[in-house]
Amino acid sequence: MKTKFNINNLIRENIKTLKPYSSARDEYKEVSSDMVFLDANENPFQNGVNRYPDPQQNKVKTQLSKLKGIPTQNILLGNGSDEVLDLIFRAFCEPNQDNIITLPPTYGMYGVLANINAIENIEIALEHNFQPNVDSILSVANKNTKMLFLCSPNNPTANSFEAKTIENLVTNFNGLVIIDEAYIDFSEEASWLSRLDEFPNLIVTQTLSKAYGMAGIRLGVCYASAEIISILNRIKPPYNINELTQLKALKRLTNPQDVSEEINRILEQRDWLISELNKIDVVEIVYPSDANFILAKVDDASKRYSELINKGIVVRNRTNQPLCNNCLRFTVGSQMENIKLIAALKAL
Ligand SMILES: *Cc1c(COP(=O)(O)O)cnc(C)c1O
Repeated sequence: MKTKFNINNLIRENIKTLKPYSSARDEYKEVSSDMVFLDANENPFQNGVNRYPDPQQNKVKTQLSKLKGIPTQNILLGNGSDEVLDLIFRAFCEPNQDNIITLPPTYGMYGVLANINAIENIEIALEHNFQPNVDSILSVANKNTKMLFLCSPNNPTANSFEAKTIENLVTNFNGLVIIDEAYIDFSEEASWLSRLDEFPNLIVTQTLSKAYGMAGIRLGVCYASAEIISILNRIKPPYNINELTQLKALKRLTNPQDVSEEINRILEQRDWLISELNKIDVVEIVYPSDANFILAKVDDASKRYSELINKGIVVRNRTNQPLCNNCLRFTVGSQMENIKLIAALKAL
């Protein structure tokens, strides 16, 4: 039976009582040009980055808020999704005591972060159709199970989990459910952002690394209840998003039509790649894709992987992942890159 959700039952004891670091910029926030700032031991000579960045990234969050229709108090930014996920672990999982559930084959970082934080990772493999097994997940959870990670669209399988399956899990799982939507902009499925209000235990993560084309600036986004966001804010490094990243992100987020144009081109290329891959002898199965990559089963993944490397093309060999025997993962590249890939595969 699911108990009534109370975040205080999940948060680590030491985090509950933590007194956060208060930075100079936290104590005095007004930024007007005629003020004299002698509070943070900065170098006074202007070069664009001589001042500490805004620790709350208000401009970036305000723009994200407009784009996504989510209030800024429900948004936290991290140095990539990786930092966001690490903060969630450190806020809610007691080392050597708590556990999480992940659903392989999936993004490797959840397991790595569990390891780093000394948290047991209970793995419940996806079904053969790459959908979660709800009964197994709910029945393995115990009183120390703090979080369930759902990656949808999932990496490396490229499919989305069915909405009713996700709803069932968010409703009945006794802990936080983190939906990693790194690839949501390539999918026709609706984002779970619109349902954040309904579920106090739901955390949605997104990133500027994929559809937004900014893997180099490291910006991950976490959306959750104001209560969860305020807990994460208390433990985040004060200046975790640097000034260059904030400026670049703001510029990109102010031109969302450029992003959607690129997404459309990638989706066109994805369709083309899928149809071409299906014609290739060594390719046995091309799985449907809701992301900017394609998982395909070939005759001998390790052999084909090396042959492609020798032709100067690097793909991802996923053959050692559960359910991915002899599978390669192809990122959808530019038209030229995709033509080269298909020509190389044809020549094998
Ligand atoms: C690429 C990817 C991310 C992005 O991570 P960043 O640290 O934001 O670059 C997150 N989740 C999944 C499943 C990914 O494949």
